[in-house]
Amino acid sequence: MLRVDSISKRYGDVVALDRASFEVDKGRIVGFLGRNGAGKTTTMRSIFGLVQPDSGRITYEGAEITHAVRQRFGYMPEERGLYPKMKVKEQLVHFGRLSGMTSDAAGAAADRWLDHLGLGDRGDAKVEDLSHGNQQRVQLAVAIVHDPEVLILDEPFAGLDPIGVESLSEVLLDFKLAGAAILFSSHQLELVEDLCDDIAIVHRGHVEVTGDLARLKAAADYRRLVIEIDGSSWIPESVAERTVEVGNSVHAIVPASASVDDLLALARDKGRITRFAYETPGLTDIFREAVSDE
Ligand code: ATP
Repeated sequence: MLRVDSISKRYGDVVALDRASFEVDKGRIVGFLGRNGAGKTTTMRSIFGLVQPDSGRITYEGAEITHAVRQRFGYMPEERGLYPKMKVKEQLVHFGRLSGMTSDAAGAAADRWLDHLGLGDRGDAKVEDLSHGNQQRVQLAVAIVHDPEVLILDEPFAGLDPIGVESLSEVLLDFKLAGAAILFSSHQLELVEDLCDDIAIVHRGHVEVTGDLARLKAAADYRRLVIEIDGSSWIPESVAERTVEVGNSVHAIVPASASVDDLLALARDKGRITRFAYETPGLTDIFREAVSDE
């Protein structure tokens, strides 16, 4: 398990991290969320020793992370770190060797990943001649060429087309199945909702919410209720705490303790039910609450 334990970091007057804590378990994908400037990149750089926290510690399997341990980690930084004039395959071999692979092993892994990521015919191209999305794929290949057991990805989905999103998602799921611990940051909440087992939401340098996403949703003290009678939204005023407009329909926020049977009975009394949905909050709701300053 990778454990970030109460790390803090200041840059002059700017508090980048404020006792941030969370864990990334093996075989889990953790979505790392937060507004711009919340502290995500600073945390990820701290895991790789590129930023020295002022206090707190980061451990893997209960011990400090040494250079040798870090070689078993993979990192896709936000500021992409490829050599623009180096050929794609050479680049992969270079980074594979930095992680302790032999040239032969790195060459074989490079071929395998380039094929897998749809870049099998671009191994001899210079990185700078590739499109933005393909450079991103190479950056991913660099992060995974040595088959890491911990994978840290800073906004890996940014700028990918829908097929690229799908293929990166598959790669992450394969690593998860193989038992890797995966942390990735993203502003695309739907994607995080689909892919992640756990989340960590950082706000002003502090991790406000972390844990199993399904459990966090179920633990919320309210539910979203959508009722349509003959095609029109209907709100049971006696139960609704407030309403939220979503496109053409209006959702009621009701206490989690409200009985679904009672709600259905109320709706039936009103007329012909054409839609009835009773749902836990979505990740967007959880995110909004975590980063609200109220
Ligand atoms: P984004 O979603 O915009 O990428 P982030 O969550 O990754 O944001 P960080 O890059 O970690 O946020 O930045 C956290 C805070 O620390 C910001 O206020 C940022 O300006 C500040 N900061 C980060 N690195 C430095 C630095 N080297 N010098 C000064 N301030 C810094």
